[in-house]
Amino acid sequence: MATKTKTKEQSKKHSFSAEVGKVLQLVIHSLYTNKDIFLRELISNASDACDKLRYEAVTTPELLSTDPELKISITYDANAKTLNITDNGIGMNEKELVQNLGTIAKSGTQGFLQNLSGDSKKDMQLIGQFGVGFYSAFMVAEKIMVISCRAGEAQGHIWQSDGQGSFTIEPLEGTATRGTSITLFMKEEATEYLDKHRLQHIIRTYSDHIGFPITVAETGGEAIVANKASALWTRPKSDITPEQYQEFYRHIAHQADEPWLIMHNKSEGTVEYTNLLFIPSTKPFDLFHPDRMTRLKLYVKRVFITDQDIDIIPRHLRFIRGVVDSEDLPLNISRETLQHNVVLAKIRQSLVNRIYSELKKKAEKEPESYLKFWEQFGAVIKEGLCDISESRDKLLEICRFRTALGGDKFVSLDEYVANMKPEQKEIFYLTGSSIDMMLQNPQLEGFIERGIDVILLGDSVDDFWVNVISDYKEKHLRSITRAGVDLSDIPTLEKPEEETQKKDSAKLLSFFKETLGNKVKDVRATTKLHHTPACLAADEHGMDLRFERFMFEQKQLPARGGKILEVNLTHPAIQRVEEQVGSDEAKDIALLIFDQACILEGEELSDPAGFTKRFNKLLTTSTKS
Ligand code: ADP
Repeated sequence: MATKTKTKEQSKKHSFSAEVGKVLQLVIHSLYTNKDIFLRELISNASDACDKLRYEAVTTPELLSTDPELKISITYDANAKTLNITDNGIGMNEKELVQNLGTIAKSGTQGFLQNLSGDSKKDMQLIGQFGVGFYSAFMVAEKIMVISCRAGEAQGHIWQSDGQGSFTIEPLEGTATRGTSITLFMKEEATEYLDKHRLQHIIRTYSDHIGFPITVAETGGEAIVANKASALWTRPKSDITPEQYQEFYRHIAHQADEPWLIMHNKSEGTVEYTNLLFIPSTKPFDLFHPDRMTRLKLYVKRVFITDQDIDIIPRHLRFIRGVVDSEDLPLNISRETLQHNVVLAKIRQSLVNRIYSELKKKAEKEPESYLKFWEQFGAVIKEGLCDISESRDKLLEICRFRTALGGDKFVSLDEYVANMKPEQKEIFYLTGSSIDMMLQNPQLEGFIERGIDVILLGDSVDDFWVNVISDYKEKHLRSITRAGVDLSDIPTLEKPEEETQKKDSAKLLSFFKETLGNKVKDVRATTKLHHTPACLAADEHGMDLRFERFMFEQKQLPARGGKILEVNLTHPAIQRVEEQVGSDEAKDIALLIFDQACILEGEELSDPAGFTKRFNKLLTTSTKS
């Protein structure tokens, strides 16, 4: 690459974006204990640049013709204290230099940076997930010069910065060659990197998997290839060490954690492809950011095609990182037509099946490790339950749940069903905002009393999928907060006989209905309460009340549905109403019982002043008597 420089007048000064400024602060005050990684990051970018060019050259072969062998060359000069990394990949024009090396394009960056606490230990873990890429070079360099020329364009540009808030760009004089050349002017304390063995060692450790040759040479000296230079996924599993998988994961996922699961397979059935997929052990920082894509890298016969705008796997598996290399897709396929491609649809189906069955295997063989995974990604996986095109039973098989009787334990639905009471026909569940809140819900009383377990669903996504899935392997899923749960056929653990006695409650229930008027749609007796006189329930075929409330608040529902009051006939307060049916006191108590049920359910009281009046009246009368 030509290194002739500038005419001063043409040099333009730009400021780094606020995010870059913050990242540079972190980098320069070195959050990283391991500075070696700067080289990995620059090589990773160079390799991506070669990948991009190879893809563009499929349709525009002349881009490659003058210099067809894609490679990455590293040279160093101990006297000048410089280290240079050059690739003959896609290169960048002026606009791209400003955009790529002046801002951070990752979605969710701002939110991420706001989360940094200032506590360097914590921040280091966070920043590890984020990956600062190019900017990490400022850990070792006091100044960086990037000379780049976009493939197919004639004019090259020089980008320069000392990492202190701004950079300059100027046109390169003379002939430019395609690609990017990055020169690091090393800090005094980082001159240790200007050494052939050190560089070779770092490359073998972090960048051996890169599919292009990486050479190392002293300026003017002989260049020696330092890596294997074949794409890692094309090598047999037995030839790949755990460290090599780990490094490849870092390259592809930009994450510093260890992968929790590695799936490396070759498929040769109806579709032929290789996959090397990783499930991270910790949540990526932008997992719940709306712009987060699935972002697997798609290759066709070793040529990188894209990592954007296509769904090789569904959104609820978006935490998975890796590559898929197809033998069947045409090389010159355009990114636009990929989305509707039949072969891609088949690959997707095959991958999804593989992922589910690997997860199932792991859940059965290593349940403890699986729970760690579940705690990180369970809520995302469950998003798939809302998708009608999914094989939901397969997905439900790999879900794990807390239950009312299970303490800290998680169970699968199959385990739940296996432990059901002989008389129990349905899978019972309760949704809520936290496990602790749910455990206090009185609607659980009758279940606990009978030793019937209830699945507790505490993630926001649960409110959605329970409205679209009604069965699991022929067992009905039933919310315990909807009307019509009948436990009367199942004996309690303590007093089995008493419970089965049915009472005639018609008079009492119609008194409640009369008193409450249009506050309720119906009043019914229930067996699911024990210490509590009454609760609110949703219609048997309707939505759970808390979900209905949420939808109404979000203006997704024009009006609230009617509530059903369920009363516990064995409770003394209800019995007191029964004894005095028709009296003013009975009316007051009935209203108070209804208001209590509203409070328990988190519903607003329709007449708080009336409630206070009645409540105080009751307090004072009981003190007198
Ligand atoms: P990341 O690689 O995570 O996107 P970086 O900060 O490392 O973040 O790089 C920002 C962008 O700069 C890259 O996405 C790429 O578009 C561009 N870039 C960096 N290095 C090169 C290079 N050697 N050749 C071409 N483009 C590059």
